[in-house]
Amino acid sequence: METVLNIGLSDASVYGLAKQAGNERFAWDSYRRLIQMFGKTVLGIEGHEFEQAIDAAKQAKGSRNDLDLDAEDMRALVDTFKQIVKSQTGEDFPQEPRAQMDMAVNAVFDSWNSDRAILYRRQERIPADLGTAVNIVAMVFGNLGPDSGTGVAFTRDPGTGQQGIYGDYLQNAQGEDVVAGIRNTVPLQELEPIDPKSYHELLQIMSTLEHHYKDLCDIEFTIERGKLWMLQTRVGKRTAGAAFRIAVQLVDQDLIDMNEALRRVTGAQLAQLMFPRFGNISSASLITKAISASPGAAVGKAVFDSTTAVEWADRGEEVILVRRETNPDDLHGMIAARGILTSRGGKTSHAAVVARGMGKTCVCGADQLEVDVKARQFTTEGPDGQLVVRQGDVISIDGTSGAVYLGEVPVVASPVVEYFEGNLDPNADELVSAVHRIMTHADQRRRLGVRANSDTGEDSARAVRFGAQGIGLTRTEHMFLGERRQLVERLILAEDDKGRVAALAELEPLQRGDFVEILEAMDGLPVTIRLLDPPLHEFLPDLTDLSVKVALAGDQASEKDKKLLEEVRRLHEQNPMLGLRGVRLGLVIPGLYEMQVRAIAHAAADRIKAGGDPRPEIMIPLVGAVQELEVARDEAEKVLAEVAEETGVRGHTLIGTMIEVPRAALTAGQIAQAAEFFSFGTNDLTQMGWGFSRDDVEGAFFGRYIEMGIFGVSPFETLDADGIGRLVKIAVAEGRATRPDLKIGVCGEHGGDPESVRFFHGAGLDYVSCSPFRVPVARLEAGRAVALEDSGGSDSR
Ligand code: PEP
Ligand code: MG
Repeated sequence: METVLNIGLSDASVYGLAKQAGNERFAWDSYRRLIQMFGKTVLGIEGHEFEQAIDAAKQAKGSRNDLDLDAEDMRALVDTFKQIVKSQTGEDFPQEPRAQMDMAVNAVFDSWNSDRAILYRRQERIPADLGTAVNIVAMVFGNLGPDSGTGVAFTRDPGTGQQGIYGDYLQNAQGEDVVAGIRNTVPLQELEPIDPKSYHELLQIMSTLEHHYKDLCDIEFTIERGKLWMLQTRVGKRTAGAAFRIAVQLVDQDLIDMNEALRRVTGAQLAQLMFPRFGNISSASLITKAISASPGAAVGKAVFDSTTAVEWADRGEEVILVRRETNPDDLHGMIAARGILTSRGGKTSHAAVVARGMGKTCVCGADQLEVDVKARQFTTEGPDGQLVVRQGDVISIDGTSGAVYLGEVPVVASPVVEYFEGNLDPNADELVSAVHRIMTHADQRRRLGVRANSDTGEDSARAVRFGAQGIGLTRTEHMFLGERRQLVERLILAEDDKGRVAALAELEPLQRGDFVEILEAMDGLPVTIRLLDPPLHEFLPDLTDLSVKVALAGDQASEKDKKLLEEVRRLHEQNPMLGLRGVRLGLVIPGLYEMQVRAIAHAAADRIKAGGDPRPEIMIPLVGAVQELEVARDEAEKVLAEVAEETGVRGHTLIGTMIEVPRAALTAGQIAQAAEFFSFGTNDLTQMGWGFSRDDVEGAFFGRYIEMGIFGVSPFETLDADGIGRLVKIAVAEGRATRPDLKIGVCGEHGGDPESVRFFHGAGLDYVSCSPFRVPVARLEAGRAVALEDSGGSDSR
């Protein structure tokens, strides 16, 4: 927010101030400062108009230092400044103190809607309708001479958390000079020889403030003729690392307890500490800034298709996969790449979700980039005309800020991840030890369980290392990709039951192998396996590509391709997200879900025979009516009984459903009759609840919506508590009314979002499930939810 100093000075009162202070230069300097700040802030005059006049005055004096300007020079500047005001606004500078005050007060209120304030609110997630206050205080003057000055101090280093004396001081100046960089400040320690009395008093006050607030304080002060005045103090901003370090330092100093330490850090800060990051970006060349989809820093050669990504990665190159958007076919390219950059899609687009799941850096929705996959390049308007980045050119992407740079920006690794991986001792360094102590406390306090979304044994093993207590979502669709696609094609193209059964029979052992791997990695822990969700055409070739291929081949086109094209056309949907997917697919394609359930049951039996303790749970997606679930459930139970008969191994496999269609939430009481557990699919629930296509809207207009204050953050990122959250609460209440022991979790992307985790705690869920890399964040926030409840729920961070 804006500030205007020295209100009340006028052509008449300037003489009074000069007399009172016994210093004419000071009085005229203060008056010219008022006209300058008032002109800029209140009257909207460009700052350089005034700055040029000061430069001209200094030049005339043959000096570069404003302190060389004497009383006469300042008086002349006041005249010049008044002329600037008159010529720029057509009005005289107001002489009436009351008019100055009223205008300044309005300007401060108006600054709530300045670009700077809007940007800040957006970053800090401060609601736009909160409004602001205006403080009016008596002046003390740091520009009264060499025995006066102004400065800023921190009680600890906000970069590292180290205790000490940090800050800057500027002699014979007012606060704005520090910001304007008119003269160089000196380190705070240098105040000691200048004014030892004020210096020691300041240290005393800093210590009092820190003990009072029990936190790092940031302080602004002014010294007026040897007397120290405190202007303001607030709990200081700090880096993520400093937040963790300071919290435990304060515990060790007996200033706060571990619950308060837990409240003092955030999941967002922990996430920042977990991703590799760019070191020095000051000399990096920025190409564009887009949606920060999955944090981290990645450097590599740009490649434009997944096959090249894999080939180049196999020969040891680091690559960034650049696509307009990704689809399940790109999975291998995404795995091979260091990072993913797309020109379309938002935070829940395929690229974003999959990248986050892998802990891979991703920037998406970079719509200023014209990605030409055929020409293997992207183009954009650079400062010196059109910039072309070709395959093989090195780029660096920052998934935390959304920035894309040309060339290599140096990357530093995260010790915190090394600690979670078990490769670094908790006492290895101060930061890791602070994270360890706070995480341990969060685990002791939390009520929510934390599971992971994971589709492979490798990811599952990592999830366990990161503290997951099971799997909340295994998306089985990846098991239909790669070489297995041919089998899916055969399933879709089968002309009779025999052909279909044969294709399913070939898929089953492959699925079974996948499940064995996951159940082994998660031995003794629950593993929720979701039956196939995406529409089948996603596993077939692209309609346009195939049409072109068949058309070009003409008479030579193979029967297989022609048949395939026919099927792709038949399965093509205008709105596939609202089409034949989830349970609908399971009910319409005979044998599909049956095959998956059989594979799960056999995998569990295999594990039991091998001495393991598998705990699979079968989850039916996209249910909207209890009748859908009943049919799917009956079929699954039949298969489970058959396999138990065949193998002689019996156990209870829970059967539940996702709540991701609004109708399911609203009829949860009925659905709970057929479900032993619910897992909220908040990606789809948000998509269908808002009517926002999750693949399109974020890049298309969310930026504008956020600017207009319609929401402060994408509802795909943080759960919309008022709307979608209400659906969640209704479903929890009605589901539990039917079945009191109903187990309830969430597996949408919100399961790893700090604010949403706290919402789910409050809504009474049993667990949240998120990508393995977000498991520690969810653990921390689940602990914080309890600690915040203790303190009345306020989150001061
Ligand atoms: C969801 O909709 O929240 C969910 C987890 O399923 P998917 O993202 O696979 O649609
Ligand atoms: Mg879904």
